[in-house]
Amino acid sequence: MPNRTAPRAPRHRREAPAPPPSVGILDIAFHRASLVTPHGRTKAERDRRRAVLKVVRSSATVIRHLRLETGPVRAATAGDFEKALVARRFGTGALDRALLRLRRAEERIRGLARDAERSAQRGNDPTDLGEVIRTFYGRLSSFVREVDPDLATLRRIGAYLDERPRLHEGAPTLVVAGFPNVGKSSLVARLSTARPKVADYPFTTLAIGVGHADLGFDRLQVVDTPGVLGRSARANPAETEAETAVERAATAVLFVIDPTGTSGYTVEEQEQLLAKWREEFPQLPIVVVETKSDLLRRPATDRLQLSSVTGEGLDALWSRLRSVLPARGPMPEVEVEPPSEEFALEPEGSDEVSPDERSEEPDEAPRRPRRRPGGPARRGRRA
Ligand code: GDP
Repeated sequence: MPNRTAPRAPRHRREAPAPPPSVGILDIAFHRASLVTPHGRTKAERDRRRAVLKVVRSSATVIRHLRLETGPVRAATAGDFEKALVARRFGTGALDRALLRLRRAEERIRGLARDAERSAQRGNDPTDLGEVIRTFYGRLSSFVREVDPDLATLRRIGAYLDERPRLHEGAPTLVVAGFPNVGKSSLVARLSTARPKVADYPFTTLAIGVGHADLGFDRLQVVDTPGVLGRSARANPAETEAETAVERAATAVLFVIDPTGTSGYTVEEQEQLLAKWREEFPQLPIVVVETKSDLLRRPATDRLQLSSVTGEGLDALWSRLRSVLPARGPMPEVEVEPPSEEFALEPEGSDEVSPDERSEEPDEAPRRPRRRPGGPARRGRRA
């Protein structure tokens, strides 16, 4: 007989999956539509007006929320570098496909709303009007549900980019690259405002990071990258990100070689990657340094040798960098994202929905993509 007093094995509570994006958007749209306050001399007039307003307000709210989802991702992927990052991480064309489907959904919703508005204006009794609204709400819901996968894709892309630093378009960009564990992050911390995590195991840096340094004539973006082993076909996502930074964002590359063996990689392996990049990016200035000179100084090298521990060689590195990076004017102004176009679907003669209503912020957004402090600077590619 089973022992009924024995404690039960703990049940693992599963987190409920997040509801699809359409749920939040439709909730807000229908809620706002339920608050319309129609004017009219007769009850029939007010009923008609109410139906029209429900159509207008619910469709306008849905469209505004679709734009709230697309706008920030569009702005965040304006630069070549970010486009390439997203294409490599989410697949070529994934972003464009999602944006296109959302644009089409918006057009279909506008058409649907125009038809429903006309039917509501012709409606004579509450039953007819109720049917118009029910049918409209049903179709509106299915149009929004159809783009759930696209909204989910945009949210994933938005979250991915939120975790990456914003690169200022046009600012000189030094990408610090090399094998894992060779001392890239330590050097980035020495050269710039960035404070990356430094550890004596490989792949501590999983995504690019950025710090800034004053070049005297300009502000330099110093990009720390995850280590790259140069096995293109088998590159992991972090390595791919580093390669994309070199390919799309770099004004110059600072290639770090660790000759001491403490990184776990041989000098030959590191030289092979350097040779590969020189071949792949013949136009790109590549400054090569050997790190950890406090542990080992190689007599037979004409390369810059430096130590992030003692600071040896850093002044010489700065002079070299200044000679390689183009002198330009001041940093460009930070561009402010333009407000999204207003949704123009105003019922004729309606004074209950003001023209402003469609452009005003919703009472509560289902998810506003995060903005970093410092404002909505455009991400950009190299100068
Ligand atoms: P990354 O993976 O290339 O970014 O390398 P890290 O900057 O994280 O450094 C890897 C290890 O090497 C850490 O334990 C660092 O403390 C050490 N290291 C980095 N630069 C130097 C250096 O110039 N001298 C010495 N002695 N150790 C260093």
